[in-house]
Amino acid sequence: MRYGIFSDVHANLEALEAVAKSLKAEQIDRYFCIGDLVGYGANPNECVDKVRSLAALSVAGNHDWASVNLFSMKYFNPEAADAILWTRQRLNPESTNFLEALKLIFLNEDFTLAHGTLDNPQEFNYLLDGFSAWETFQLLKTKVCFIGHTHIPLVFIKDKSDEVYIEKDDIINLAEDKTYIINAGSVGQPRDGNPQASYCIFDTQDKEVRIKRVSYDFKKARKKIIDAGLPKFLGDRLLSGK
Ligand code: ZN
Repeated sequence: MRYGIFSDVHANLEALEAVAKSLKAEQIDRYFCIGDLVGYGANPNECVDKVRSLAALSVAGNHDWASVNLFSMKYFNPEAADAILWTRQRLNPESTNFLEALKLIFLNEDFTLAHGTLDNPQEFNYLLDGFSAWETFQLLKTKVCFIGHTHIPLVFIKDKSDEVYIEKDDIINLAEDKTYIINAGSVGQPRDGNPQASYCIFDTQDKEVRIKRVSYDFKKARKKIIDAGLPKFLGDRLLSGK
């Protein structure tokens, strides 16, 4: 199986189309999204449609749930809250139904998906360090867990002596005696200093996960955000990837 896995689209259609095009050239069998389809960007309905057209199974992100009143906005900074209010006013009934139906966790025989963490996933906490990784490893029932939420691609590894360490490699060869939490980074709003859209390919035959990046029309996505009356900062940060 070859899985195409991506996260944090954030209503950035230009970035999502670039990722979908790259994945289409990679003999992907199934697509998965780790949440935050909407929020920040100017094309929430179009991005929901695109994810649906890929038949991508998605889990819920905090922005998805906040956009359909399933998660409190008190945890959002002012720009993010503005974007949620903007998004709420524009979501069509099909997009609303889709986002309302998203579940917090998905797992199959090969991997688990959660937007933030496996412990208390409804709180959407950030998995940033060894300690928070440990909590998720305790609950992990598959070899690999894919997460998003921080918008920074990163790999947490637990070895057979229960030691947890962090790697930044973009090619991860899965070892027999280790388990993994892999942050897929963000399609629509990367924050690791690289503005290119981030996504993952998991090849179960090769036992390999690759974190890949693709360029897209950042300026067009930025202009749409500003023209839509969304906070200018949300457009500007697409250019720097921060
Ligand atoms: Zn996000």
